[in-house]
Amino acid sequence: MPLLYHWVGRNYRRDLDWGAGYHLNQSNPLLHGIEPGDSLWAFTRTPSGKYVLAMDLVVRAKTRNPAGYRYGEYRLWGNLEKSRYFRTDDQPDVSGLIRQLSVRASAPVLGRSFQGHAAVRRLTPADHRVLAQYARHLPPEPRARLLPEEELEARILLGDPASVSSLIAAEAPGIADERRRYLFEQAPRRNPQHVRELRELYEGMCQLCKWNPRSLYRQDLCEAHHVHWLSRGGQDELHNMVLICPNHHRAIHRVDAPFDWADESFVFPGMRKPMRISRHEVQAHV
Ligand SMILES: [Zn+2]
Ligand SMILES: [Zn+2]
Repeated sequence: MPLLYHWVGRNYRRDLDWGAGYHLNQSNPLLHGIEPGDSLWAFTRTPSGKYVLAMDLVVRAKTRNPAGYRYGEYRLWGNLEKSRYFRTDDQPDVSGLIRQLSVRASAPVLGRSFQGHAAVRRLTPADHRVLAQYARHLPPEPRARLLPEEELEARILLGDPASVSSLIAAEAPGIADERRRYLFEQAPRRNPQHVRELRELYEGMCQLCKWNPRSLYRQDLCEAHHVHWLSRGGQDELHNMVLICPNHHRAIHRVDAPFDWADESFVFPGMRKPMRISRHEVQAHV
C-alpha cells in the first residue's frame, strides 16, 4: 500500500542540511502499513509557501524507535538505490495535484489537512500512478547524494580534520556549514575517545557475535559503528555507537542494514540480528 506524507518544511530542510537520511519517522502506526518495495510520496512546503514533491521513498525496511522518541514510534528506511529526492526550487506548486488524489484535503492551505496523525495517508494504486507520472521527469536533488559511510567513519577515527574535510568537499557538497564543522572538527577530536570507551565496556568483543580478538590475538580489532549513519545525519556519540567485529561491520554497510532501536537488532534482508551483549543504551537522535 503506497502512502502520502506531509514532511514539515523545517524537518525536510534539516534532513538535507545534515546529510539526506533516506528515512522518516511518525507516531501514526499507518506508517508501518506500507510494504517493502512500495512508495511513500513525501511533499513539503518551501519557505516561500509553495508545496512541492520532495521524495519518493521506496521502502526498504520498517523499524521502531525507542519509547518516547520525539518524532514518533514508527520509522521507515528507504532503499538507497531506488528512492529519489526531487529538486524543489523550480517545481510548480503541487497543491492541485494532491487535491486530485483520493486523500481528503479540503483545507484552504494544503498543509492544514495533514496535521499530526493526518500527516500520513493511504494512497490507492491509481493515486500512486498519478504521482509516479508527475515525478517521471523531475530532476533529482543534488544535495541528497550520500557520503561513503565506511570511508567517513575511518577518516573520523584517524582524528585528522583535513582528511574528513576533503572527503566531505568532494562527495557531499550539499551538507550545511554547521554540520560540516561538526563532522570535521568536533567528531575527529572526540571519536577516538568514544572508541576506547566502547572497547573498555565490551572488553574488545563484538556486540553481535562475541568474537573476542583480545583473548585470541591480544589485539583490539573490533570497530565502532554509528547505528544512525553519520553521513545520514547521525551523531558521533556513544549512544549512537556499537562495537562490532570487522566482518559484521562490512556486512552492515554493504547491505545497508538498518537498526531497530526497539529490540536493539540489525535488520538484514531475511533475518534480524540482535545484540548479544548490550552494556550501554543505544538511543535514537533524529
Ligand atoms: Zn561480529
Ligand atoms: Zn559503521
